Amino acid sequence: RVKEKWAATRIKHPATGLALQNFDSTYSVQLGPLWPSVRAALLSERKYGALLNNYGHDDVQAELQAKGCKDFPSDIETEAQPCLEQEPAVAGEEESSHVSVNKSDLDAQQLPALQLSPNIKCLVFPRGDITRFKPARPDMFGCLGYYLMDAASVLPCLALNVQEGHNVLDLCAAPGGKTLALLQTKSIGFFGVNDTSVSRTTRLRKVLHSYVPKPLLSHEKLRITTFDGTKWGEIEKNTFDRVLVDVPCTTDRHSLMEDDNNIFSKNRTGERRRLPQLQLDLLLAGIEAACPGGEILYSTCTLSQIQNLSVVEQAIHTAREDHGIQLQVVDLRPLTHMFRKTFDFAPDLPLGEMVVPHLAANFGPIYMCKLRRLT
Ligand code: SAM
Repeated sequence: RVKEKWAATRIKHPATGLALQNFDSTYSVQLGPLWPSVRAALLSERKYGALLNNYGHDDVQAELQAKGCKDFPSDIETEAQPCLEQEPAVAGEEESSHVSVNKSDLDAQQLPALQLSPNIKCLVFPRGDITRFKPARPDMFGCLGYYLMDAASVLPCLALNVQEGHNVLDLCAAPGGKTLALLQTKSIGFFGVNDTSVSRTTRLRKVLHSYVPKPLLSHEKLRITTFDGTKWGEIEKNTFDRVLVDVPCTTDRHSLMEDDNNIFSKNRTGERRRLPQLQLDLLLAGIEAACPGGEILYSTCTLSQIQNLSVVEQAIHTAREDHGIQLQVVDLRPLTHMFRKTFDFAPDLPLGEMVVPHLAANFGPIYMCKLRRLT
């Protein structure tokens, strides 16, 4: 038998193990019978999407489509069609799927229309196909053709529905995947891009410069800052038509896979416990930064109820009681219905929508909730 040579130096409680323990105890209760399959997916290789760069010059879309990819936001005909034809509800459609029973029972024609940002293209391999994308190549002008990211991260950007000339704020923007997706709309009038981390903002700048032509990154159009986002309400109130609040969270997938920089490590317990308050402060600041009539999209990449709907509930309450701001929750069910063949959505969430990882569609987790300022 080989002696455990490193036994004395091996970390007793690796952060990834602590994360799994934590998730097993909380998510088995929260997700019930769904948890074992979500757990298996979370512990397996994730699936990426290729966010197409509209500023590139090569026909990357055709190249990827020839390999079997589809642009999930625009290739929805086959997804939406069954529902428009009023096929039976999705409930028994795929035994292994987590698609919501009572939300999918709804006929799309009864759902309020939801506009999605046009021009955001994201290519994915079909359900069950785990082919990996090759790294993007620069074109003759040095511009990269696509950006690899969790395809579910594109959903908050689509749902934000940026319109021509809108002033947009991305409050927690680095390393910039969603910033880049929002820039693909080519509709933004002025774009405020912020992240408190200087090193992560440097990465964001590099990303933008690899994908977007310089004139479009000029100071009149785009401003990159490194402020504490929780203070935004004090600096720039009632200003933006659209605000993305993509908050720091327990990043569930990362926490299960990487011991480095893991929020479940013992020395970060305090920081982890303070997350819901930080998330609430950031969301409230985002709400204040939006103009009346403006829309705010809150998103995380955790399954945690405490970081998702509890934060949104508390923000709606505090905005009304402390700031006199009335908010309306925007129904995102048309979006989940549209994309139910590409992603698995959690069933029966009282507030917001959530992509849950599934072995055949290993995207997410992504939680999102859209709010509209009425006052
Ligand atoms: N939206 C990014 C993207 O799509 O690439 C990911 C954002 S990440 C989930 C959360 C970010 O919030 C981190 O980059 C972190 O530096 C930033 N952050 C943490 N505290 C913040 C604060 N008080 N104000 C602004 N940003 C903050």
